[in-house]
Amino acid sequence: LLETRTLNKWFGGLHVTGGVDFDLEQGEIHCLIGPNGAGKSTLFRLILGEHLPSSGQILYEGADITNDKPFQRIRRGISVKFQVPGIFKALSVRQNLQIALQHHESPETLHDEIDRLLEFLKLTADERVLAGNLSHGQKQWLEIGMAIALKPRLLLLDEPTAGMTPDETFATGEMVQALNRQGVTVLAVEHDMAFVRQIAQRVTVLHFGKIFAQGTIEEIVADPRVAAIYLGEVHA
Ligand code: ATP
Ligand code: MG
Repeated sequence: LLETRTLNKWFGGLHVTGGVDFDLEQGEIHCLIGPNGAGKSTLFRLILGEHLPSSGQILYEGADITNDKPFQRIRRGISVKFQVPGIFKALSVRQNLQIALQHHESPETLHDEIDRLLEFLKLTADERVLAGNLSHGQKQWLEIGMAIALKPRLLLLDEPTAGMTPDETFATGEMVQALNRQGVTVLAVEHDMAFVRQIAQRVTVLHFGKIFAQGTIEEIVADPRVAAIYLGEVHA
């Protein structure tokens, strides 16, 4: 579905994405892991078009999207939930979803679609509840809701469970799996290994901007080289 070819990104003298050849298969749930600063969010921003690569290519459904603008990628069906929340805190949950949906749904189906999303996200339809007053986990779900409102074929999730309780994390995993059954391909950056184990069909370890290891979660956790990175024993 998505392929990067020798993708490089430099920030000044900092080589943040180091010749990455990454292949995301149609229909999979793929987790991207790696220590802080490994370049996970940067890879997302490159896929999304928020950064342009210094060199290399990005192919999506066979088309070269390397120089596409972010809105063109969204139109192709790529959607993202970022690490930092971007909801409207002074608006209700419903109003937030309405903003995400209104340009994509006809007025007749808009409210049914919002109801469907509220139910899926286990969020309240109560107009008096402002998004800013939701629990941390519920805010993250609303973020996911705003990302899936556009019915993406590829959903990027940057630390979707950050700060969640174990129950919320598990429920998030079930949401992601339900979306995946509906045909959405998922690429998620995640630090919580229980979550990775719950959802990932394949895992890629990024380290110093390079693909360090790839496999099932069982293969990754059994790999002593991967353990060594987390112990800070592997240097660039
Ligand atoms: P984390 O797990 O902490 O979210 P990450 O794997 O997502 O880390 P990135 O945010 O991609 O890492 O950052 C990788 C490296 O690139 C870091 O050293 C970071 O400081 C640097 N970096 C990221 N964005 C920029 C930027 N816009 N300008 C300069 N350097 C940047
Ligand atoms: Mg990050």
